[in-house]
Amino acid sequence: MKGSRKLYIKSFGCQMNVYDSQRMADTLAPEGYSETAAAADADLVILNTCHIREKAAEKVYSEIGRMRRLKEAAAAEGRRLLIAVAGCVAQAEGEEIVKRAPAVDLVVGSQNYHRLPELIARAGRDRKIVDTEFPPDDKFDRLAAPSAAATRARGVTAFVTVQEGCDKFCTFCVVPYTRGTESSRPVLKIRAEVERLVDAGVREITLIGQNVNAYHGEGPDGRPWPLARLLGLLAKLPGLERLRYTTSHPRDMHDELIAAHRDLPQLMPQLHLPVQSGSDRILAAMNRRHTRADYLDVVARLRNARPDLALTSDFIVGFPGETDADFAATLSLVDAIGYAGAFSFKYSPRPGTPGADMDDQVDETAKSARLHRLQAAIDRHQATFNRSCLGGKFPVLFERRGRYDGQLVGRSPYLQPVQVEAPVSLIGTIAAVTITEVSSNSLFGALVQEPALAGAGA
Ligand code: SAM
Ligand code: SF4
Repeated sequence: MKGSRKLYIKSFGCQMNVYDSQRMADTLAPEGYSETAAAADADLVILNTCHIREKAAEKVYSEIGRMRRLKEAAAAEGRRLLIAVAGCVAQAEGEEIVKRAPAVDLVVGSQNYHRLPELIARAGRDRKIVDTEFPPDDKFDRLAAPSAAATRARGVTAFVTVQEGCDKFCTFCVVPYTRGTESSRPVLKIRAEVERLVDAGVREITLIGQNVNAYHGEGPDGRPWPLARLLGLLAKLPGLERLRYTTSHPRDMHDELIAAHRDLPQLMPQLHLPVQSGSDRILAAMNRRHTRADYLDVVARLRNARPDLALTSDFIVGFPGETDADFAATLSLVDAIGYAGAFSFKYSPRPGTPGADMDDQVDETAKSARLHRLQAAIDRHQATFNRSCLGGKFPVLFERRGRYDGQLVGRSPYLQPVQVEAPVSLIGTIAAVTITEVSSNSLFGALVQEPALAGAGA
């Protein structure tokens, strides 16, 4: 272990960045870096950025401003603070970042995190380093695995990236440009990573990818395996209680994957299946390559396989050309599906994507009004779904202590947070809970007393 140094990492955006941030910390641990929650104490700050909407990208620059002030304060004390920008803004803007924000020492694209130790050593020698190539070597082979202690500190649920990049080229989206073409990790490497996590106490794994259900990694037989087969293999691992995957594209929701929702008890009855719009005209303009009817058909088949499936989605309002009638079609789709929750966004034109150059951009006032109405509809459905759980008995995986003494927070099979009075010894276990109260986005419950135990106390 080299000299002891402090690392502060801040993740913006999706779960893929959360996972990447952990792997960067794991890769820097043998270099003597331990994580700190206080940027002011750090020797190295990494901002792992998101470029999906303009607001997300701009947030990075205000955060760099804050880090610049900490860097100046550190220099006044005779300490050096190195600032690195990673993730999708790094990939998309590269050199531009050091021009606009000279306090930044290092810009590292999303495929190059395994090179961090070497890049940091070079950046230390008073030079600006920008590394945003898409190298031929697989970063996952070179990123260090977490220690068992680091895994335990991160809790009983974990993300594992199985797929990266995207070839779909939806006309609003930067992902194919920032994360590159679609690639999948081999099955056995994923299984080895999951086994290590489970050995260190993880009970729930979420497989992640920008387009996770397009997964086609090399199987043990040398052939590409679909996601359904990967899930089937992982479901056999002793100690792994729960599986989830995100984010999926409706076009890649094939029969085998739908059947997995029926056949694998470890696969939780909850699915994030973004639709973006309920209007066929807009879906076509977005290059989603499916219709509203196709989406409804996929949902019907999923619900046939798993009747209690809780569905969530993403929506974009105000895509170029969206009329009141198109937006009404989105609202009616929300009512037709009855989502358990959803994210909704105002369309944000992204440089270099076809949508940004379309003529009929929608004005901000109309976008805001539509977003407001859509969010109200989504909230209504979420509240209905949560209310339907009242009085129900569900297995809850306890993750951590709650805000109040004696309280734990866990997750229902449908991914809702559930707050329960329970002993700390239950963290990492699944126990039956009766839902006694619901609020807009949280459930409250009580441990179900086993009849024998209840009898023993009577
Ligand atoms: N691969 C997923 C899919 O096909 O639905 C989406 C991944 S994207 C990282 C997450 C969400 O961000 C999208 O589902 C979309 O709703 C939203 N998003 C992407 N680009 C956007 C843009 N230019 N403006 C507003 N929202 C956007
Ligand atoms: Fe972006 Fe998802 Fe479309 Fe790929 S499928 S381009 S990640 S929105």
